[in-house]
Amino acid sequence: MESLVIVGASLAGLSAARAARRQGFTGRLVIVGDDPERPYDRPPLSKEFLSGQFQAADLTLEIDGEQLDAEWLLGVRAVSFDPVSREVALADGRTVRADLLVIATGAPHDSCRSSRASTTC
Ligand SMILES: Cc1cc2nc3c(=O)[nH]c(=O)nc-3n(C[C@H](O)[C@H](O)[C@H](O)COP(=O)(O)OP(=O)(O)OC[C@H]3O[C@@H](n4cnc5c(N)ncnc54)[C@H](O)[C@@H]3O)c2cc1C
Repeated sequence: MESLVIVGASLAGLSAARAARRQGFTGRLVIVGDDPERPYDRPPLSKEFLSGQFQAADLTLEIDGEQLDAEWLLGVRAVSFDPVSREVALADGRTVRADLLVIATGAPHDSCRSSRASTTC
């Protein structure tokens, strides 16, 4: 069975998983995330969640009854991909076969620095 591994279990990773299923991918779908939580909406973290308007359950990005048929490997970091063996290595020593690989790891918040004159990344 063909396997699709998505590294990054947040908005982009979830969107990629949905798109793959919507477009007819029927193989093994594995979503790897170093965050222990299922995908959640980040913008309200610094707004409604901080002010107490939202609870943790209000932040979920998954839709009730959504059938992604995915394996979630959470709380573990993907550390490398070997294009010959097509294996993604995880920080805990496991490997996952990836016939197809999506890297959806976002960007670190401190990767860009702005000044009045310019932004460098
Ligand atoms: C507090 C806060 C407030 C924000 N407010 C706004 C806003 O008001 N408006 C706006 O437009 N945007 C806002 N953003 C940004 C918005 O949340 C991001 O644009 C969005 O989350 C990007 O989604 P993403 O899936 O691309 O990346 P991310 O949400 O960054 O997800 C990437 C995921 O990949 C995981 N990951 C990274 N490396 C690995 C690895 N090697 N192995 C496994 N997993 C890995 C990370 O842990 C993370 O869970 C805010 C973000 C934060 C944190």
